[in-house]
Order: sequence, then structure tokens, then C-alpha cells
Amino acid sequence: MKSSEFSVIIHGGAGGFVDDADSRLKEPFLKAALDAGWNALLAGEGGERAMIRAMMVLEGCEYFDAGYGSYPNEHGKVFMDVALMRGSGDFISLVNVRKVKYPSALALDMLRPGRSLMRVWTDRMHAGLEDSADEFKERYGYVRTEEEMIAPYALESGQRARSAASQNKGSGTIGCVIRDGEGRIFAGTSTGGIPNKPDGRVGDTPIIGSGCFADDQIGGLSATGHGEVIMKSLLSGYVIAEMRGRLASDANSFTSDGKALKNILDRELGAMRAKYPGGEAGLIVIPKIGMPAFSFNSEAMNVGMRVGSAQGISHEEWKVARAGR
Ligand code: ASP
Repeated sequence: MKSSEFSVIIHGGAGGFVDDADSRLKEPFLKAALDAGWNALLAGEGGERAMIRAMMVLEGCEYFDAGYGSYPNEHGKVFMDVALMRGSGDFISLVNVRKVKYPSALALDMLRPGRSLMRVWTDRMHAGLEDSADEFKERYGYVRTEEEMIAPYALESGQRARSAASQNKGSGTIGCVIRDGEGRIFAGTSTGGIPNKPDGRVGDTPIIGSGCFADDQIGGLSATGHGEVIMKSLLSGYVIAEMRGRLASDANSFTSDGKALKNILDRELGAMRAKYPGGEAGLIVIPKIGMPAFSFNSEAMNVGMRVGSAQGISHEEWKVARAGR
């Protein structure tokens, strides 16, 4: 793949399929997120900023379980987790963020070169945000009351999940992986967690190497699904390890065999399910060299990808993808 080429892949969660009307609501936002990331790359903003632009579109949309659309927890409050990683090795991960519609933008401002940090969002940090200049509040989508974070769609989905006879865990976490024109890889994931989550519960999203990972020498990944299963099966870790193995034996393995990456994802999702029946997840991945790929073992996954350069788009798609179709 030429170094001037860009790759963007996004997801808006993996889980149950709602219905066609629901897909029609979500799909335009998947396209808008791709457009936002792509236009930033074309404008020379760099992969990291482009990733945040794409994530912010989905965080600002009530149909996705991140930022404004986050599911309330068992006490009706929104607590969000977010993680960003650079393929050069730095990361920032925030747990229990409150009262901002764009946790990814907040996280980006806390990502310092050479200083990886996983942080619980404390009352003191929140007070600092409340005292900050309007410019920052606007940038992070700060809201004054907890109620303003409860989107009608998220409330309804949470209520449906509560009354569902099955173990409906909901879906809608968002993620983005980008390889920019310089071959740098960035990955980010943002979530409100599972609907009606127990107070203080944290899933895979903010765990580097589980919900999100990037390494310029291997690739980048964002995961979604049952966080507890994703963590205990080491799903993302095995995927990255397999990618590393393939690249070590043949640096072009993901370009010479277009299915190789998807096969890795399918194999690891299968292994996860064999060990933990009922475990559902979806992954988006961009390798160091080669096309992005996604896979999921749930009923549906909200995804989009675009590949090309300033000269034009060579591949793009965005959809609520359904298993077996
Ligand atoms: N993985 C997220 C969590 O467990 C939820 C999701 O992706 O839908 O918090």
C-alpha cells in the first residue's frame, strides 16, 4: 500500500439487530463519521485528529452508546469510558467520565507524548472542567446537568434491555482506527458501557490491549461487545499476536491474501465463543500494510470503512452489517 494512502474504519457497536427502520436512522451517521475523518485527512490534519473528528460524530449522535447516546447505568446515570492509542506507543484511557458529550475530545487533550496514562475521572478533575474556560466546555460538549446526558433513544433501549427476557446487552459503543498518509496508526474506542450497568462497572473499552490497541509495526484495533468476555478471552491480544506472527513471516501477507486478516478475526471470535458460549463481540482492524477488516459474531454490527488517497476513494462502505448476509 502506497504511503500516501489513507485507511479509515469505524464501528458503532456489535449486538442484536433492531429493525430496518433503526438501521436507516444509524447509517447516515456512519457515513458522516467517515466523511469527517476523511475530510480531516485530506485537509492534512493528521490521523489522530481525523480519528477524533470521526468519533465525535458518533458520540454526538443519540443512536450510539457513547458520549450523548450513552446508556444510563442501574441508577439512571451516565458514566463513560474512553481510550485512545497512538501506534508509536502513547495512550490515554479515562474511566467514569461524566457530563461531556465528546469524551474522545477530552481524552485527546490529555494525551501527552511519552506519557501513557490510565485515569479514573475524579470529582476533582470534574470540578476543574466546570471551572475551565467556555472554549474547553464547548470543545468537550460539557453539559450542566446529568439529565442532559440522557438521550431519549438510549433511555428507551435501556428500558427494552431491562425488560428483555434474554440477556440483551445492547450495542452501540463506537470506535475508529486510522492509518494516515505517513503510515501512522491510531485507534480509539468510546462507550457508555452496557445498558443498566452495575454502579462502578467498567468493561473492556478503556483497557489498552482489550478495547483498543495500536502499534505502527503491526496494526490497530477497536473492539465492541460483551466487555467481560472480551477481557477474559484475551480476544484483542490474540488477534494482535496472530497479526504479528503473520507479518513476521511475510510483511506482505495481508496484501497478498485479501482474506488473511478477516480469517484471523473469525478464528479468534470463534475461539472466544467456544470457550465462553453466548459471548458476542465485533472487531475493526487496520494492519500495518493492507486493507482494513472487520468481523463480528453477534446478529449485527454497525460499521464503515474508506480507503484511498487525495486522488480518490478506492473502496468504501457503511452499513448495519448482519450476520450471514
Ligand atoms: N464493550 C463495551 C463494554 O463492555 C460495550 C459494547 O461494546 O457494547 O462496556
